[in-house]
Amino acid sequence: MPWKGEKDPYRIWLSEIILQQTRVQQGLGYYERFISAYPSVHDLAQASEDEVLKLWQGLGYYSRARNLHFTAKDIVQNYEGKFPQSYAKLLKLKGVGKYTAAAIASFAFDEAVAAVDGNVIRVLSRIYQIQEPFDTADGRKQFDVLANELTPKNWPGIFNQAMMDFGATVCTPKKPLCELCPFQKDCEAFKNNATNDLPVRKNRVQSKSRFFFAFHIEKNGSIAIEQRKGKDIWQGLYQLPWQEVKGFDGNMEKQIDEVAHGYFQSEDLNFYSFTEVFKQQLSHQKIHVVFVEIDAKNITDTQLNFIATRNLSTFAFPKIFILYLQGKKLILE
Ligand code: SF4
Repeated sequence: MPWKGEKDPYRIWLSEIILQQTRVQQGLGYYERFISAYPSVHDLAQASEDEVLKLWQGLGYYSRARNLHFTAKDIVQNYEGKFPQSYAKLLKLKGVGKYTAAAIASFAFDEAVAAVDGNVIRVLSRIYQIQEPFDTADGRKQFDVLANELTPKNWPGIFNQAMMDFGATVCTPKKPLCELCPFQKDCEAFKNNATNDLPVRKNRVQSKSRFFFAFHIEKNGSIAIEQRKGKDIWQGLYQLPWQEVKGFDGNMEKQIDEVAHGYFQSEDLNFYSFTEVFKQQLSHQKIHVVFVEIDAKNITDTQLNFIATRNLSTFAFPKIFILYLQGKKLILE
């Protein structure tokens, strides 16, 4: 991986933010595209938020992209374009949590601080057979203290990287490679046949279902889109106009009729068709969308924002919209 052994704090920061909640193979392409488009923190700071979101499109967790952009500007404006060189100061940057601050501080500046991610928690919970849930304040503290005690003063970066890699490749969540593991003799979980029970989690976040009708309105080579505002999901991204409903009724045609007439404040609407339910699982929400094609000629809503369909691919859309628009051949696959 291009970020292995990296000492440049900008590249470490970029890779860590991209790789959070992302598979390495998927993150790699994004990392390379970001480095190519923005080789330095100055280049990233000068980009527009729309450009950054567009490059981020498909990775999800878009607040990370917005924070990335915000922090690049912060570093240029308030830190003379240089990353702070200590864990404590790095933690003050927006979007930089304990793990990322520790990764930058240990990899770039050799500060002896543990970067504790899910991999490290899993490894420690098994070797020491820690029963404390890692998602409580006390439990998390226990893992942080232990990891910091173990971190060697003279090579913290290598140690942190090794712990993460070991968790990702040997002590994996399912079917860990215990037979090959050099810690086997010392691993309490292995000795007590408790590998699959660790780490312990206390809280499972319930996923909430949400339901929407999205309106595909096209005329004269243009299509209506809008930018998402406010604090909801996908802030800053683009979408087709949509309306949230409590759920989908058995009689979909009747429901679409009522919802669309209410949305467009028009008595005279014609529908072409509607799709099956498209679904997208987010971290805490499951999004359900039915796309409805509407004849545009009776829609007078001047608030609709039409853009040329040939320019659609320059806007950043959430994945569920991309799938629909690709199906309509309005965005290339
Ligand atoms: S013996 Fe198994 S559970 Fe224990 S550290 Fe090694 S891989 Fe993980």
